[in-house]
Amino acid sequence: MHPQWKRQFSCFDLVAKTDQRPRGIVRVHDIEIGGDDVIVMAGPCAVESERQLLETAEAVAKAGARILRGGAYKPRSSPYAFQGLGVEGLKLLRKASEATGLPVVTEVMNEADIDRVAEYADIMQVGSRSMENYSLLEALGRCSRPVLLKRGMVATLEELLRSAQILAQAGNPRIILCERGIRTFETTTRNTIDISAVAVLKMVSRLPVIVDPSHAAGMRCLVPILGRAAVATGADGLLVEVHPVPEQALSDGEQSLTFQEFRSMMDDLQPYVSIQREARRLRPQLLAVGAD
Ligand code: PEP
Ligand code: MN
Repeated sequence: MHPQWKRQFSCFDLVAKTDQRPRGIVRVHDIEIGGDDVIVMAGPCAVESERQLLETAEAVAKAGARILRGGAYKPRSSPYAFQGLGVEGLKLLRKASEATGLPVVTEVMNEADIDRVAEYADIMQVGSRSMENYSLLEALGRCSRPVLLKRGMVATLEELLRSAQILAQAGNPRIILCERGIRTFETTTRNTIDISAVAVLKMVSRLPVIVDPSHAAGMRCLVPILGRAAVATGADGLLVEVHPVPEQALSDGEQSLTFQEFRSMMDDLQPYVSIQREARRLRPQLLAVGAD
C-alpha cells in the first residue's frame, strides 16, 4: 500500500485492510457482497405503486439482479418533489421481495425510522446527503442489518471511511461502501464518477465497494458504460435504477433504464464479470501487487 495511504487510513482500524483481515464479506441470506461474484442491485429510484414495483422486481430478477432497490423515504433536493410512500412503500418492497426472492435495500433517513425500516429491509441504505449524519450512523451501529453507506457528494474518501469507522465502532461491522459520483466543475453529467475511489477503497479498506452509475451519470445512456468501468476496476457490485416507463417516473427518470436496457446492460457486463471472477480466483497474486 502507498505509504501516504497507510498514514491517512490506518487510524480507521475497524474498516482498514490488514494482513490479518484482508477482506470483509457482507452476507445477506445466500448472497455474498465482497465475495467472488459481482452483485447487481437494481430497481426504481422510488417505490411509486404496487404494479410499478412488482413489474420492475420481476424484470430485474429475470435479468440477473440479486438484490432489489427502491426508495420509500426519498431525500429530494426540492421540497415540492415526490417524497416517497413511506411505510406503504416499505410494505410493497417486502411484497416484491417475497414474490421474487430478492432481498431489499432501501434508504433510512432518520434515526426514528430505523426500527420500522429494518422490519422490512434486508440492507439499510445511508444516502449521500446523510453520510455525515453521525447520530444516524451511531443508531445504525446498534441495528442488526447491514448498511450500504453512500459517499457524500462532496466527501473525501477519508471522510467516507471515517463514517464507516463510526458505524463499526458503534457495533455494526457489516458495511458496504458505495461510490455514487461526486460534485466537480463538470456539468455534462449529474456528478463525476470517481473511478479511482474504487481502486483506492479496495486497497485501503477491507469493506466491499459497489458503484452507483445511475446517480453518477444522471442520464441513462451513460449508465451501462460506467457500470462496465466500475466492474473492470474491481467493484464488488452495482446499484442501478430501473423503471417500467422512465419518462413517467416520479423521480430520477432521466437516469433510469428501461427493462430492455437493463437486460442489455447485464448481457454486456458478462465478459467483465467473468474476468473479475477469474482475477479474484488469482487474488493472492493480485493482492501482493496491490500491496506494494
Ligand atoms: C438513491 O439511491 O436513490 C439516492 C437518493 O442516492 P444518493 O443518496 O446517492 O443521492
Ligand atoms: Mn435516485
